[in-house]
Amino acid sequence: MYLELDPDLTSEQGEVRVATHGFASGVLRPAAARLDRMPPDEVVAESSPLWDVFRAWYELGNHTAGLAPAHGGTGIDGLTRHLVLEELGWGSAGLAAGLGVAAMPFEFTAMLAEMTGNHRLLDEVVAPFVADRDARFIGCWAITEPSHGSDALEVGTDAFTRARAAGSCRAVADGDEWVITGEKAAWVSNGTIATHALLFCTVAPSSGPAGGGVAMIPLDRLGIERGPALDKLGQRDLNQGGIRFDGARIPADYLLVGPDQYPLVLSTVLSLANAGMGAIFTGLARAALEDALAYAKVRTQGGHPIGEHQLVQGKLFAMFAAVEQARSLSRAALVHNSQTFPPDLAYSIASKVTCTQRAFEVASEALQVLGGIGLSRELPVEKYFRDARASLIEDGVNEFLGLQAARSILERYSLDEP
Ligand SMILES: Cc1cc2nc3c(=O)[nH]c(=O)nc-3n(C[C@H](O)[C@H](O)[C@H](O)COP(=O)(O)OP(=O)(O)OC[C@H]3O[C@@H](n4cnc5c(N)ncnc54)[C@H](O)[C@@H]3O)c2cc1C
Repeated sequence: MYLELDPDLTSEQGEVRVATHGFASGVLRPAAARLDRMPPDEVVAESSPLWDVFRAWYELGNHTAGLAPAHGGTGIDGLTRHLVLEELGWGSAGLAAGLGVAAMPFEFTAMLAEMTGNHRLLDEVVAPFVADRDARFIGCWAITEPSHGSDALEVGTDAFTRARAAGSCRAVADGDEWVITGEKAAWVSNGTIATHALLFCTVAPSSGPAGGGVAMIPLDRLGIERGPALDKLGQRDLNQGGIRFDGARIPADYLLVGPDQYPLVLSTVLSLANAGMGAIFTGLARAALEDALAYAKVRTQGGHPIGEHQLVQGKLFAMFAAVEQARSLSRAALVHNSQTFPPDLAYSIASKVTCTQRAFEVASEALQVLGGIGLSRELPVEKYFRDARASLIEDGVNEFLGLQAARSILERYSLDEP
C-alpha cells in the first residue's frame, strides 16, 4: 500500500519498488519473524534463515546496486535507492541494515580507489564482490571501540584533535605493510559474519581521532579474532559482534586513506549511512502505520470497529503525518546527498534523527492502537517498537548527532547574508 505523495517515478523506478516490496514481504518478513526469536549464535548458524536472505539478495545481483557501472554495479540514483531502502525497512529494519552494511566496504573501497588512484583493491576485492552470487563476500564497518563511541564520530570539533581522545585500535607501518592491533566493539553490524571490514583506525595518535586511517581488511588474515554474537533488545535479526586485531598485517595500499583525508571520509561515510537510516526507518514507520490501520478496521468493540472512535482516528492521523514527514525529509536528503560531494552531513543527520524518532513514536502508537494484542509476540508490532528503539542509538546516538549538525549549521550561517 502506498499512501504517499508519490513523485513522478519512471517505469524503471516503479518496477524496482514493486520487486523490492515482493522481496521484503516474501523473503525478509518471514525470515525476520524467525530470526527475532532465536539466540544470537543460532541467527548465524549454518542452518539459519539469515543465509537464505543473503543468498536471495545476492543471487539477483542486488548487492551491487550502490556501485557505479564502471565498477560492475547498477549505480542506482538517489530516489531509487530511497525506494529500495524504504521497502527493505518495511520488511525488516535489522535485515535492511545487515544487507546495506554488507555492501558498504566494497562501495567505499571503489569510491576511495577513484579518489586516491589506488586501484589495486578494485581487482582484488571489489570485482570478486560484484561477481558473487552466493553471499560469500560480506562487509562490515568497524569504527566503534569499547572505549570510543560518540567521540569517534565527533568530526570537526576541537575534541576531535585531542591526542588523549585517540582510538586504541592502531595501524603502524612496518616496511611495505601495516600492522593492526586493537579492538572494535561488539556493536559492529555483521561483525561475526563479515569477510571484509572497512576499518577506521588510528594512524597518527598525537592528532587524536582526526589522525585516523581507513583500511580494507580481509578478515581471514592471521591475528584477527571475532567476539561472540551480541544479544540485544531490538534488531535481533541484525548480527553484531566485536573484532580483535593482534598484529594483523595488510599490504601498504590496503590502507586507503590516511590522516589527511580521514575527517572528510568519515564525514562522507556518516552522511551516507545516516541518509540510508532515514529511508529504512521511514519503511518501519510505514509498516507500523499499515498494521494499525488494518487493525482499526477489523477490531470491533461495543459493536463498532475501533477506527470509528475519534481518539483512534486522531492517533492514525498523527502516525500518517509522521510517516509522510519522514519520507519527505529522508528522500530529499538522500537524493541531495547522492548528487553532492562532499555530502551535507547536517541534512543526513536531520533525516536520521527525525525518521528514527518518528519511527519509534509511530511504532509505539501502533502498539497502543492494537491494545493488548500489540504487546503479544504473535504480531510484528512489538518488534517494530524494539527495532525502532535500537535505531535511536545506531549510527550515532540521536542527541549527539543533533549537536554535530547544530555545529555545522551555526558555522555556515552568516549574519551578513540576507
Ligand atoms: C543497532 C546498532 C548498529 C550499530 N552498527 C555499528 C556498526 O556497524 N559499526 C560500528 O562501528 N558501530 C556500530 N554501532 C555503534 C554505534 O554507532 C554506537 O553505539 C554509537 O556511536 C554510540 O556509541 P556508544 O554506544 O559507545 O555510546 P557513548 O558514546 O558512550 O554515549 C553514551 C551516552 O552519552 C552521550 N554522549 C556521549 N558523548 C557525548 C557528547 N560529547 N555530548 C553529549 N552527549 C554525549 C550519548 O548521547 C549517549 O546518550 C551500532 C549501534 C547499534 C545500536
